Amino acid sequence: MYNLDEFMAELERKNPAQPEFIQAAREVIESVIDVVNNNPKYLANKILDRIVEPERVIEFRVEWEDDNHQIQVNRGYRVQFNSAIGPYKGGLRFSKNVTLGTLKFLGFEQTFKNSLTTLPMGGGKGGSDFDPVGKSDNEILRFCRSFMTELYKYIGPDTDVPAGDLGVGGREIGYLYGQYKRIRQENTGVLTGKGQNWGGSLIRPEATGFGAMYFTNEVLKLNGDSFEGKRVSISGFGNVAWGAAMKASQLGAKVVAISGPDGYIVDENGINTPEKWAYMLELRSSNKNVVAPYAEKFGAKFVPGRKVWELPVDIAFTCALQNELNGDDAKLLIKNGVKYAIEVSNMGCTPEAIAAFQAAKIPFCPGKAVNAGGVATSGLEMSQNAEHLKWSAEEVDKQLHTIMKNIFDACVREGKEADGTVNYVKGANIAGFRKVADAMCELGY
Ligand code: GLU
Repeated sequence: MYNLDEFMAELERKNPAQPEFIQAAREVIESVIDVVNNNPKYLANKILDRIVEPERVIEFRVEWEDDNHQIQVNRGYRVQFNSAIGPYKGGLRFSKNVTLGTLKFLGFEQTFKNSLTTLPMGGGKGGSDFDPVGKSDNEILRFCRSFMTELYKYIGPDTDVPAGDLGVGGREIGYLYGQYKRIRQENTGVLTGKGQNWGGSLIRPEATGFGAMYFTNEVLKLNGDSFEGKRVSISGFGNVAWGAAMKASQLGAKVVAISGPDGYIVDENGINTPEKWAYMLELRSSNKNVVAPYAEKFGAKFVPGRKVWELPVDIAFTCALQNELNGDDAKLLIKNGVKYAIEVSNMGCTPEAIAAFQAAKIPFCPGKAVNAGGVATSGLEMSQNAEHLKWSAEEVDKQLHTIMKNIFDACVREGKEADGTVNYVKGANIAGFRKVADAMCELGY
């Protein structure tokens, strides 16, 4: 039998200075410990001990030359967390705060998220402490080349398939794929999020945001509600926030806010035109990491240095970073009448925030279910690459929709409480865990 406190104490001892990984692991273990303790097969297979240990961690030096001809050194990583149900799959994050602990938390989350998609993908994550802010296009190119010159040894279309994440978008995937092709002399689906002219899938750029809204739409329906007229805030202004703003608007909501590290924007007219959406992409690719210029361009209000969660809304979506919404933010949102709290970023809410929403009976949905549409569409990109075909946007969108509905159903099935409410955290964790755990038992140790 597993004891939660003893298990977590041992995990902390083994993984010092990795608080994000410990936080992610605790959330999953808390959800699944009863399922494990009631299943002799899982106990005999020491499933929890095995599932928290990455299969492989690769760390390497990345050297590149900046525009002043100075040598720069960064650290590159790939965490190949779990391949029980398919090749490792998960993004690459470039951000100055990236540590091994960050990527272990993301790789762990990815394992259960990918399992939820119903597609055969294992979990992995990688990246670097390279900071794209303020870098020139040429510097990004040189960094990506150097990074791939080492990473190519460990990845492959049936081994490990990286994609984008924070700081890694279409441009970076292009530079990385260009170098992979140069070295390996092959056109394969080794990365996803590729450009439309060289193997990418339609709808992949929009998929994380779109999928999040398809999931939320199901939550609203279950509560006899809809997007119509809902006032919505979104944190971030990058790829995920962009897709979310578009689809929420199309479904009838009014998106009034987006944010950046410099503060947040309030646009009472709604962030609801192709011009405004296109400008979000422009802001992201400017590499300045600020949202303020939006206010000037569209005559909106800019609130410097504050978090977007102080704004009263019906639905709050975290679309930026881990732990971006804490217990105090949650309490303020609740006081201001928030009706739904939807985590789109990976582990966007602290445990205190989740507890506050759940205590107030505000439906809270976790990132690993809500944002799974991104990696699911990466899975669809892999299928298209494997059959050397390209599907229509309608076909990809339809499959994305079906996958999100299936994830929602799985969360409800596994997360239904005695009082009829749904604990989406528990539901997502148990549903994601079962498939991986069963596969690990069947494959032997
Ligand atoms: N980085 C994204 C995620 O957190 C996408 C991963 C992928 O497409 O492989 O799921």
